[in-house]
Amino acid sequence: RRPMENLVKAQGETAEAMKKATKGEAIAHWFKTDLRCTDNTSLALAAQKAKEMDVPLVCFYLVSPQDFKAHLRSPVRIDFILRTLQVLRDDLAKLDIPLYVETVEERAEIPGRVLELLDSWGCNHLCANLEYEVDELRRETKLLRLLAEKGKSFEAVHDTCVVPPGQLRSGTGNQYAVYTPWYRTWMAHIHSNLDLLELHDSPPKNPASARKKFQKLFNCEIPAAAKGKELSAEEKKRFHALWPCGEHEAKARLDKFCEERIGEYSEKRNVPSDNGTSSLSVHLASGTISARTCVRTARDRNKSKKLDGGLDGIKVWISEVAWRDFYRHVLVRWPHVCMNKPYKPDYADIEWSYDTEHFKAWCEGKTGFPIVDAAMRQLNHTGYMHNRTRMVVASFLAKDLLIDWRMGEKYFMEHLVDGDFASNNGGWGFSASVGVDPQPYFRIFNPLRQSERFDADGEYIRHWVPELKDLDNKQIHDPYGRGAGDKAKKAGYPKPIVEHISTATAFMKANNDLRLGD
Ligand code: FAD
Repeated sequence: RRPMENLVKAQGETAEAMKKATKGEAIAHWFKTDLRCTDNTSLALAAQKAKEMDVPLVCFYLVSPQDFKAHLRSPVRIDFILRTLQVLRDDLAKLDIPLYVETVEERAEIPGRVLELLDSWGCNHLCANLEYEVDELRRETKLLRLLAEKGKSFEAVHDTCVVPPGQLRSGTGNQYAVYTPWYRTWMAHIHSNLDLLELHDSPPKNPASARKKFQKLFNCEIPAAAKGKELSAEEKKRFHALWPCGEHEAKARLDKFCEERIGEYSEKRNVPSDNGTSSLSVHLASGTISARTCVRTARDRNKSKKLDGGLDGIKVWISEVAWRDFYRHVLVRWPHVCMNKPYKPDYADIEWSYDTEHFKAWCEGKTGFPIVDAAMRQLNHTGYMHNRTRMVVASFLAKDLLIDWRMGEKYFMEHLVDGDFASNNGGWGFSASVGVDPQPYFRIFNPLRQSERFDADGEYIRHWVPELKDLDNKQIHDPYGRGAGDKAKKAGYPKPIVEHISTATAFMKANNDLRLGD
């Protein structure tokens, strides 16, 4: 049985026991990747229960270094999370709600520690939003049974997707493996269940007595960094300026994007030098904004109040936010994608390269392919990369360097500020043609054509590869092939480490052999 099915089974089996949970002295909400007060399903549910039972609301967050490690969380992402916790703590404190933060070294100890904390606060009711990775679903199942045994209730609810996984079925009753029909069904489902887009209220103020009762929790410290994942002083300065944190920042960013740029999204979203996308991925990944709020806010700018009506930019943007839901639905249905396996078992047999020199050149942005190098340097410097160039560098790693796409997937997670397992895995599966609804294996991005098409005047390359800044608009895409080799060499820019056509052909051959059973 899949982890999600196990959880649902456990929810069924413990339902009766949970109903018997007595009121207790407080209701608890466990924050995970939902670091916001507004439009948070579980937090709103916990606040509602607290109101009904006339007890205070208590919130907590557990820092798990082992989870950070297992999920390959990048230092910049961890720093973003820890900074956000401070904003969240201050916002909750204004409502007299404590946010208790504790580090739990061993992830296996989390269920037991949650029970201890609930006991120490006199809590018999816990609420949390679901995370869909395999380990998290297993942990929640274990916790559910543990709490039920102790006479406590645990409501683990859907929140991170606009449409919860498992609700959309194709004609044959299965989860869609292709995006376009899935997307049509996704939209139709929302149009006939408009409550899915409804805003969940922020919690009201706790009774004044909560301050006194939970004084210690109000005074808890939030760690400034996670051990082994610290940022240097220079990195802190850089990343804090690039990635202001917290839900107010997220909402302001969404509103500004919808006000000023969403209308031109469909034309500008593919140009990496243009500020044409929302840059909200960092907030969606840490849950400082909900996908629901993103879709609702964009939709409300359409007169028709339909997801597929009105301005092209709005329609296309909503369809991009939907990709995030799609990859989560895929993860829940085919959890093996979470275990280093390609979606299609056949693709496990491709003979990938593990050439360390080539991989190093790719990581460092020194491949001699300017668009690839610009993108990798953008990632290394900012923790972010534009979607178009994510596809270009991923295709280049798998189809030009023939390197195992999982090495690239891992490198991305270790460096992205928005690293998100489902979206990253989906993007790599698409680009390397091994995932669900992939790019056809015979479609191989030509880095030169991509560069000329999406960075026509070389602005993106000039910014990230300053060695090439004086080359003209033609030479900049391929200095050694277009008569600027001497200049490039003098500036220290490397020659291409492979020839696009011959390696791309090798990728085709590897795939054809697989198909022909060679
Ligand atoms: P916008 O264009 O403004 O889109 C709005 C939101 O929609 C994004 O913030 C994101 O949450 C969602 N979205 C858009 N495109 C996609 C997509 N193709 N797949 C899933 N969600 C999407 N996105 C991540 O959030 N985390 C990742 O780790 C990640 N890794 C990727 C790896 C590869 C190889 C590829 C090809 C794509 C990856 N993406 C990932 C998807 C996409 O590149 C980013 O979401 C996008 O670039 C973020 O910029 P933005 O917020 O300005 O996006």
